[in-house]
Amino acid sequence: MSEVEGFKVEIGSGGISEAAAGALVTDMVNRQKSALVMYRVHREAGVLDKYRLLTYRCPRRCLLLDVFRTPAGSAVYFPPVKLSPDHNTETAEAARIERTTDGERRWVERADMLAALGNGPRLPPLHLNCDHTRSSLALDDIHEALRTLPVGTVILSSGNNVR
Ligand SMILES: [Zn+2]
Repeated sequence: MSEVEGFKVEIGSGGISEAAAGALVTDMVNRQKSALVMYRVHREAGVLDKYRLLTYRCPRRCLLLDVFRTPAGSAVYFPPVKLSPDHNTETAEAARIERTTDGERRWVERADMLAALGNGPRLPPLHLNCDHTRSSLALDDIHEALRTLPVGTVILSSGNNVR
């Protein structure tokens, strides 16, 4: 398995044993579940604002991405999204089966640790979509915003790009 939850797992030229691959995937799944549980707990308690570091929204204020703090570092939350048929055709079938509620266009919410997404200019951007906008956001831009903007800043996506 070289692609899980949309993020590539780098495998060295020597390959990786099945056991090691299994442990890697289990770690990743547990990490993502933990991040999502933390977000849900704060949300249900109505205290999300205390934990939000940075929020990206579309011009009509749909939530596109939340960056929040956890005892293990910054984490990111992706809300559920229903993609238009056009946008959806660009997604991978395996991902659609695994991460949608209808096997097609209704994508479930998810979360992960920010550090686990990686860092650096060569990484592919995150794709943030809602009914109004379709944005891509470089991971470097998130790190830069965390360094330079006050805690709790809301960044509005302008046009087609979150900047
Ligand atoms: Zn929107």
